[in-house]
Amino acid sequence: MKSITKQKTMEEIQQSLEGLDKVFVVGCGTCTTLTKTGGIDQVEEMKKNLQQIGKRVTGSVVIPTACDDMTEASITENEQFIRSADCILSMSCALGVHRMYLYIGKPIIPAVDTLFIGVEETPGYFREACAQCGQCLLGETAGVCPITACHKGLVNGPCGGTNNGKCEVDKEKDCAWTLIYNRLQEQDRLDLIRKYQPPRNHHITLKPRSMRIQ
Ligand code: SF4
Ligand code: SF4
Repeated sequence: MKSITKQKTMEEIQQSLEGLDKVFVVGCGTCTTLTKTGGIDQVEEMKKNLQQIGKRVTGSVVIPTACDDMTEASITENEQFIRSADCILSMSCALGVHRMYLYIGKPIIPAVDTLFIGVEETPGYFREACAQCGQCLLGETAGVCPITACHKGLVNGPCGGTNNGKCEVDKEKDCAWTLIYNRLQEQDRLDLIRKYQPPRNHHITLKPRSMRIQ
């Protein structure tokens, strides 16, 4: 499961870097390497692009997993280059930005947009897998998430538009509820398709969400 990102345009990045001339670039060896938005090659490319728009790059690092414990060690190792920069340009997902803010007092500017949590279904094709709704239904839907796989996020069966197993919103895409039906049938658990899901408890997703482990 990976954090799926897309790179911002250089125009957007340039705007965010207004008044910040010395830049330290951080990539991530996990998710943004997989999506080719913040791995070694993209960080090197970004350094060239920054120089072309008149920025001074004080250094760069690709942290093995930017949202994890390794971030602190990488930041400590690169402290002198980070100290001489006006800001960090982050080519990790937003989770990496949050993590870096635990250790760095300077502005951290994201160079990528974090889109969703997904899986690589076929090489280079990423599909959203979970919207972290807090009330998981996968046990009753044979592992197909109706929140992310159905265009309308329906949890009590298909809409009236499903046609020959395809979705009415995107005819190229399988209807989530056809997938659920077929898998439940294979598992001999079709009775679950009739199970009524009550209205969702939106209190569970009130922001900011947090949890304490005792
Ligand atoms: S139902 Fe879907 S969105 Fe909700 S927790 Fe399960 S996989 Fe995630
Ligand atoms: S056709 Fe299927 S996937 Fe598309 S919106 Fe209707 S129920 Fe959801």
